[in-house]
This record gives sequence, C-alpha cells and structure tokens, in this order.
Amino acid sequence: MTALSKEQPTSDVPAIEVSQLHKYYGDNEVLKGIDFRVDAGQVVCVIGPSGSGKSTLLRCVNRLEDPTSGRILVEGIDITDPETDLDAVRSRIGMVFQQFNLFPHMTVLKNLCLAQQKVLKRSRAEAVEVARLNLAKVGLAERENAYPAHLSGGQQQRVAIARALSMNPDMMLFDEPTSALDPELVGDVLAIMKDLATEGMTMMVVTHEMGFAREVGDKVVFMDGGVIVEEGTPAAVLGDPQNERTKSFLSKVL
Ligand code: ADP
Ligand code: MG
Repeated sequence: MTALSKEQPTSDVPAIEVSQLHKYYGDNEVLKGIDFRVDAGQVVCVIGPSGSGKSTLLRCVNRLEDPTSGRILVEGIDITDPETDLDAVRSRIGMVFQQFNLFPHMTVLKNLCLAQQKVLKRSRAEAVEVARLNLAKVGLAERENAYPAHLSGGQQQRVAIARALSMNPDMMLFDEPTSALDPELVGDVLAIMKDLATEGMTMMVVTHEMGFAREVGDKVVFMDGGVIVEEGTPAAVLGDPQNERTKSFLSKVL
C-alpha cells in the first residue's frame, strides 16, 4: 500500500505529539494514557467503536477539552502549559465536526468571512477573496449567497471545510465528517478530503470510512476503551490486524 504523494516538505517537529494523555469525566477515565504523534503532512485516521474516546482525544488536541494529565505538543508548543497562548495555537488548527456547525442565519460567504475578519483581522475584501478561493476548491463557487438550510448536508459539510481552510490552518482535525450524511453525499466530501491530503495537509481524521482510511491514511490508529490498541500502516492495521479487539471491530465494519 503506497501513501499518496505529498508535495509539501515535512519538518522534523511533529505536528501533534501526545504523551501519557489521561482524561477523566468525574470518576470515568475515558482516555487512559494515550501516546501518539502526527508528523507534518501525515494523514492519521482514528477508528474504533462508539465511546472509545476518539472525539475526546481530538477535542483535547485543540483544548476544546482540558486534559486531566499528560502533555500535548502542537508544532512543538505545549498546549497543556498554562502560559501558552491557546488562541494562537488554535488558529493553526482547523476543525470539522459531524454536525457542520455553520451559522444558519448567515450566507455561505459570510460564514467563511466571519472568523477571518474577527480572529485574523483580515479586511473584508481580503476575507472575501480567500473565501471565494476556498469555495471554488470545494466546488461551491456558485453558492456563496445561499443560506445553509438551502444546501444539502454534503454541501454544508464542504462549506464547513472551506470555512476551516479559510483560516489557513497548518493542520485539520475531522471528527466523523461524513457520519451525518446520506450515503450518496459521502463521496463528494471524502473526495475533497483526499484532495487536501494530496496537497500535503496534515490531517487527523476520526472516521468509519475504512476505504478512505486505507486509501488516504498514512497511519491508522485503532482505539478501544480509552487506549490505543493498535496502530500502523493501513495495510497492517486494516489488512492484517494483530489484536483480537481490532479483529473483532473490523469484522463488524468491513
Ligand atoms: P467516541 O468519539 O469514540 O464515540 P467519546 O470521546 O465521545 O467517544 O466518549 C468517550 C467516553 O466519554 C464515553 O463514555 C462518553 O460517554 C464519555 N463522555 C464524552 N464526553 C463527555 C462529557 N462531556 N461528559 C461526560 N462524559 C463524556
Ligand atoms: Mg465521537
């Protein structure tokens, strides 16, 4: 299995490095000592049963959740250090959720411009230019004046991706980006994500789309019960899993 060719050079500093991450909700330990890294330009797919801690892990990486203990470095910056400027680090990380989270009362264009102007302090003209570029990239150049409710789920998710890209992130985190979509709309969203990967975007993708993980992933991480049970190349983890829990999970989804 060969990974997609990457155009961008990779740097030595990992994009994301997590060590001994623990997360409790009350007495419930949902992450039980997670260690992993994502290198610049890599696509890491995270798979595993519902409740295994995938979303919590992703949300810890941009500090939507506070880790209970452990260290998370984003491009070498310790985001668990209270001194760190979290907003600065977060602005390098694009996040796409299962539910697209677009602002319903704003047009597509306005959805793409808002954070650019507010957070990055771009002028309206510059924000519009960047927005149009990214809308074209996701194949929705014609829909800039539409409201989210008038778009299909797949189009809304592509807008959400374009909105994240408009912030010029160094990396993108996707949490089951196609799970809320009708089956016939999944392919368009996956195609956009594949394009992004080919361009060299660093990506961490929680997904049940094993075809995507196999074709686009550089690495697959299988989580169960708050731990990483197995990780490796897609060929190894999906094609020749070593752990019984991985085998059992894959037998249900493949
Ligand atoms: P996954 O994304 O793999 O389905 P999650 O990370 O969403 O798993 O959840 C892992 C565990 O943490 C589950 O048992 C879930 O019920 C629990 N959990 C997630 N978010 C919260 C929360 N905000 N408060 C309490 N428990 C939570
Ligand atoms: Mg989840």
